[in-house]
Amino acid sequence: MALKDVLHSSVRPGELVRPLDATRIRCVACGHACPLPDGAAGVCKVRFNRGGTLYVPWGYVGGVQCDPIEKKPFFHASPGALAYSFGMLGCDLHCGYCQNWVTSQALRDPRAVAPPQQVSPDALVADALRQGARVLVSTYNEPLITAEWAMAIFREARAAGLRTGFVSNGNATPEVLEYIRPHIDYYKVDLKSFDDRRYRELGGRLAPILDTIRRLHALDVWLEIVTLLVPGFNDDADEIDRLTAFVASVSPDIPWHVTAFHQDYKMVDHRDTRDHDLLRAADIGRRNGLRFVYAGNRPGQVGDLEDTRCQGCGETVVSRLGYHVQSYRLTPDGTCPSCGTRVPGRWDSRFAGQITDHPFLPNRRLRVI
Ligand code: SF4
Repeated sequence: MALKDVLHSSVRPGELVRPLDATRIRCVACGHACPLPDGAAGVCKVRFNRGGTLYVPWGYVGGVQCDPIEKKPFFHASPGALAYSFGMLGCDLHCGYCQNWVTSQALRDPRAVAPPQQVSPDALVADALRQGARVLVSTYNEPLITAEWAMAIFREARAAGLRTGFVSNGNATPEVLEYIRPHIDYYKVDLKSFDDRRYRELGGRLAPILDTIRRLHALDVWLEIVTLLVPGFNDDADEIDRLTAFVASVSPDIPWHVTAFHQDYKMVDHRDTRDHDLLRAADIGRRNGLRFVYAGNRPGQVGDLEDTRCQGCGETVVSRLGYHVQSYRLTPDGTCPSCGTRVPGRWDSRFAGQITDHPFLPNRRLRVI
């Protein structure tokens, strides 16, 4: 059976939908807000109209893995915790440099082979707990397009005492953000560019992503932003200046991660990001008032740009090497031990994660099924 047929049988009626007329509906799970005549699928190819009902992905995962939460990356949310990460298949964008293209482009690219595994929310949460995870994260594909399934899992996860998060391109709608808000703790937005023309090359638009960032902050969901710095694509100093000024205008306390690109998937005509590219971008972000700027994917090569420093006195309160927390000095209230300033984030009352400077190994092997 073709992958498309397998996926079109792993569905159930969706909730993020508006009627347009007797047979036409509008999906509101992502910023495309696709109008769907009977028989049509959306841009993502995984949500479709059958007989006037929107069907959405349900009951499977395209991949699971337990990682340090810093790998997502979240630096101000449950530091050191294991994040049990799951994804489905498909995406509403088609970025040429996608590092998760095997799952995100499974319905567009015949080279992307990620067979779905049937699973229940209970089984996923039980597996996360078995492995010692404290956070469940929907990632690998775009979680907004599979939001109903993610919320079914997050309800179980919250009931079991886990935190929850999305790793997302941020191409949301007000409706989907309201829908997920009761069940989600952390949200990472990939702000890929500050140029609408670039977003259109990737299959999206800039405006919905900026709107998502504003709304998530207003909804008090813990938000971190990542920009993969691709030389010749989005690293122009003026663009980084406008991008970081925008983030700072929403809040200077939003952590901004600028991370190194390496050639991947279809984008092999841009050089890899060098350390000094990251340092230059980080410097622009700091000059625009961002208090928590991090440089990623170059462990040990970017000076103090992997550590969290108190915005009051400059004391290092969390030091890291790559994904690994090496020291943690925040008080149980999440304040600086030197000056008492509260550092923004979702800190645990005690540091329960691993302090390690060696590669992470999960407690046990994955046993989803
Ligand atoms: S999730 Fe986005 S791309 Fe997919 S059908 Fe809904 S609005 Fe369209």
